[in-house]
Amino acid sequence: MFTHVTPYAGDPILGLMDKFANDDRTDIKVNLGVGVYYTEDGKLPVLECVKTAEAKIANPPRPRGYLPMDGLAGYKKACQELLFGKDTAVIKEGRVATIATLGGSGALKVGADFIHEWFPTAKCYVSDPTWGNHISIFEGAGLQVGKYPYYDPATIGVKFDEMCAFFETLNENDVVLLHPCCHNPTGVDLSREQWEVVLDIVKRKKLIPFMDIAYQGFGDDMDADAFAIRLAVEKGLTVFVSNSFSKNLSLYGERVGGLSVVAPTKAEADTVLGQLKFTVRRIYSSPPSHGNAVVDIVMNDEALFEQWVDEVYQMRDRIRDMRAKLQAALQQRLPERDFGYFTKQRGMFSFTGLTAAQVARLREEFAVYMVDNGRMCVAGLNNANVEYVANAIAEVLK
Ligand code: PMP
Repeated sequence: MFTHVTPYAGDPILGLMDKFANDDRTDIKVNLGVGVYYTEDGKLPVLECVKTAEAKIANPPRPRGYLPMDGLAGYKKACQELLFGKDTAVIKEGRVATIATLGGSGALKVGADFIHEWFPTAKCYVSDPTWGNHISIFEGAGLQVGKYPYYDPATIGVKFDEMCAFFETLNENDVVLLHPCCHNPTGVDLSREQWEVVLDIVKRKKLIPFMDIAYQGFGDDMDADAFAIRLAVEKGLTVFVSNSFSKNLSLYGERVGGLSVVAPTKAEADTVLGQLKFTVRRIYSSPPSHGNAVVDIVMNDEALFEQWVDEVYQMRDRIRDMRAKLQAALQQRLPERDFGYFTKQRGMFSFTGLTAAQVARLREEFAVYMVDNGRMCVAGLNNANVEYVANAIAEVLK
């Protein structure tokens, strides 16, 4: 019956989590693989604002009816205001179609299904490199996926001219998947001037920008991290935005995200919203209620919102501190090399430039886990392990 079914090779990042869990070197092992924020104590945090919201949900207990296909109204409003800014014209004009989704992944999937259905000849282009699941999700939705030049290991920056030249070769309605901030996996973002240039090309070539923002608040701040999204709207682009609350609310397992499509007119936005709902109906019918309720409560209460932003900035600052400490510790051990990139890169990740063989040595000899492509989740470092990790990296670099 199933003899024709081919085995699944497993996900490179999630597979690493299993390997880490099964590693019995519990006294020294360090998980810098998965993109998860851990506290200084190495724990997954429950944010204070979330605890308050959950206390409200629990007392009196809320009934768990089905949510609308597109999620709670207060949740959708929160997504829109975070992404596009409070009281912005595009929201007031009703030109944004937003749905709550199952994490950022769900937003990418619903968006990709919608594009495949209504722009059947569109191809999707992702940065080289990108988060691996971008490729799987768009291919899974039936689109052909290609890569555009992005990361330049020589400069630890962006191959900007090559990226622009590549965009010039694309066809109308081709999708370009962009990371507005905290690029995963490299931590290398476009500058504001570069966004201006890229988005002008996107507009002139009539490409579809699909902006995936999973780390809002971890780069510079909530507004600055949304710069590229707001610039795209300012330029009058029709833009898809997928957002995730997994990291900035530490609600990974609740699967909370959103998909917003900015349309040229309210009428088009309404039609798009209808089709997005139908897409949802055909896959999972409606989103889970708990995450929607938490976001609705936190984001629509001024004090809780402020508390949340503050908690995100604490996470951001701890990561920055770890970047600086790792950089200094490595610089001390290998003064002839330049580790300045650790503090230049933004967000949770750092592309270390370590080879797959060096990453394997880190894992086997030192129980330090990172992704084979050399991506390190800096949020897995803390004051208790940063020197150990620096030693281990220095050893494999010698
Ligand atoms: N986009 C990017 C760039 C990500 O890094 C992630 C999470 N690793 C996602 C989307 C998916 O987020 P979620 O876990 O909310 O599905």
